[in-house]
Amino acid sequence: MAFELPQLDYAYDALKEHIDAQTMEIHHKKHHAAYTSKLNDAVSGTDLANAPIEDILAGISKQSAAVRNNGGGFYNHNLFWKVMGPNGGGTPSGDLLDAINRYFGSFEKFKEEFSNAAATRFGSGWAWLVQNEKGLVVSSTPNQDNPLMDIAEVKGTPILGIDVWEHAYYLKYQNRRPDYIAAFWNVINWNEVATRLK
Ligand code: MN
Repeated sequence: MAFELPQLDYAYDALKEHIDAQTMEIHHKKHHAAYTSKLNDAVSGTDLANAPIEDILAGISKQSAAVRNNGGGFYNHNLFWKVMGPNGGGTPSGDLLDAINRYFGSFEKFKEEFSNAAATRFGSGWAWLVQNEKGLVVSSTPNQDNPLMDIAEVKGTPILGIDVWEHAYYLKYQNRRPDYIAAFWNVINWNEVATRLK
């Protein structure tokens, strides 16, 4: 298999105060696993099978809907599990906090902008903290698109992302997406986000 479903660095119930174990397990073992296996099916026997996922996404306008949807789903969830963790939350520090202050004014302003992007993304999609030539910006994308894709409105490197598909929160939060977004701030692994800042 060209692409492999990664294991989580923590147990499914590790975030349960904020994201319940059943949601985590279904999300990883069913949803992420399905994106991964459908991506493998879509690239099987093509030169994409040996390409880094980032390179595939950078030229996604030339690929099929199957590669776009499942390649995005594979990459996005890989990032999502990493930027969360059981000892998460609080505020970033060091260079990351400096950059957030520089480009958003304050951590609170950034939090408000990111939360708003996540809450107002219509239907299924993601909200992102993106690093690009402008510095740090917030964006959102539909479906499994992401800022690495050449078709993205806001392009760059995603360093934090929140999945706002209903499968990410419905068991615990039902229709209350804003409550899920508020809870997400308690599980963000800022050390991981900081390592993604260049
Ligand atoms: Mn998802």
